[in-house]
Amino acid sequence: MGTDSKNPETIALHAGWRSDESTTAVAVPIYQTTSYQFDSTEHAANLFGLAEMGNIYTRIMNPTNDVLEQRIAALEGGVAALSVASGQSASAMAVQNITRAGDNFVASTDLYGGTWNLFANTMKDMGIECRFVDPADPQAFANATDDRTRCYYAETLPNPKLKVFPIKEVAEIGRKLGVPLIMDNTAAPILCRPFDHGAAIVMYSTTKYIGGHGTSIGGMIVDGGNFDWEAHKERFPMLNEPDPSYHGAVWTEAVKPMGPVAYIIKARVTLLRDMGAAMSPFNAFQFIQGMETLPLRIRAHCENATAVAAYLSKHDKVAHVIHPSVMEGEDRRRADAVMSGGYGGLVGFDFGDGGKAAGQKFIDSLKLFYHVANIGDARSLAIHPATTTHSQLSAEEQLQTGVTDGYVRLSVGIEHIDDIIADLDQALAAV
Ligand code: PLP
Repeated sequence: MGTDSKNPETIALHAGWRSDESTTAVAVPIYQTTSYQFDSTEHAANLFGLAEMGNIYTRIMNPTNDVLEQRIAALEGGVAALSVASGQSASAMAVQNITRAGDNFVASTDLYGGTWNLFANTMKDMGIECRFVDPADPQAFANATDDRTRCYYAETLPNPKLKVFPIKEVAEIGRKLGVPLIMDNTAAPILCRPFDHGAAIVMYSTTKYIGGHGTSIGGMIVDGGNFDWEAHKERFPMLNEPDPSYHGAVWTEAVKPMGPVAYIIKARVTLLRDMGAAMSPFNAFQFIQGMETLPLRIRAHCENATAVAAYLSKHDKVAHVIHPSVMEGEDRRRADAVMSGGYGGLVGFDFGDGGKAAGQKFIDSLKLFYHVANIGDARSLAIHPATTTHSQLSAEEQLQTGVTDGYVRLSVGIEHIDDIIADLDQALAAV
């Protein structure tokens, strides 16, 4: 269905699907198949040669995943998307698609701990250097750029600091230098559309708000179709020079008839083909269900989180509350520049001198909140990052990412706000 000019609530329900052509089923079927019957040897050869688009093998495409990909691409205002097995594989592939051993890329220091580890250690072992810079100064991205810099990478609403990234400023710097900005928009779907502010690629851990019910792990890479890879031939040899893994295809030329999709097609037919981190069709189905109510849920998350931040700000055991709704100055300006409809469902707070003991006692006293390493579930969740999600980082790295000993992260759910606050209240009383 053509949903280009529709609103997010409508796109989330309709984009990419009307009904099943053979059965007229309205719900998107789970195409639980590994492979697809070719019409003829010529048809098969055309599909493999990219002369014709169509299904070959579920490691690289599947009709259920296709609906999810079209829906998320439409929601973001992108041209095409690629579903993968997890948010981690989405971050890895988004960078690897244009970056080789000997190259570098520049990333914000404000990143999810797993992404930090991937970039600082695993990518380093692969010969790819990640240069971390403080997003407080967008110019730091320009200063860290050289001829071998292939992309910039950041999170829209990074926890734990929850300081919204200056997407527009860094995208502009990148566009002048010929460097695309990749945004992890996991914590801010619907609230922010990074392509509207100049980003070239968006990625998601669909595990979080898009799934919304804590049932499935998945990731998504969305191509904005707005970056001119051919204008920067030397910076992007992987898109502009013959690819020996695909009978010498030059991606920017080979897929031109399909539109500005060189980046995302290459990711699908080479990286996903070779690394094999495919999303299962069953999980794609779960994410489609999640997406249908995403606009409603995200609004409820935002309203509850803003109320929680206001409640915690007044509590005498809490030293400091972190949520864009209680920020001022440049931090608030940056949030308002790219977010609309709310400031997200994540709230951080710090026990200050109470440190680790207070943080742990608080978590152990919660009754309604789940104590889990996840965000974006419809249920309220809490964790003490210093001893869990960020424990594999050094003390110095923890501080750089904004994790202190007394820091607690809440992913505020969509329960009734009175019940959420009552649980926080009794747990704070126990500290
Ligand atoms: N990006 C962000 C912002 C995350 O919070 C996470 C997971 O917590 C990831 C990426 C990785 O996603 P996944 O757990 O689906 O691999």
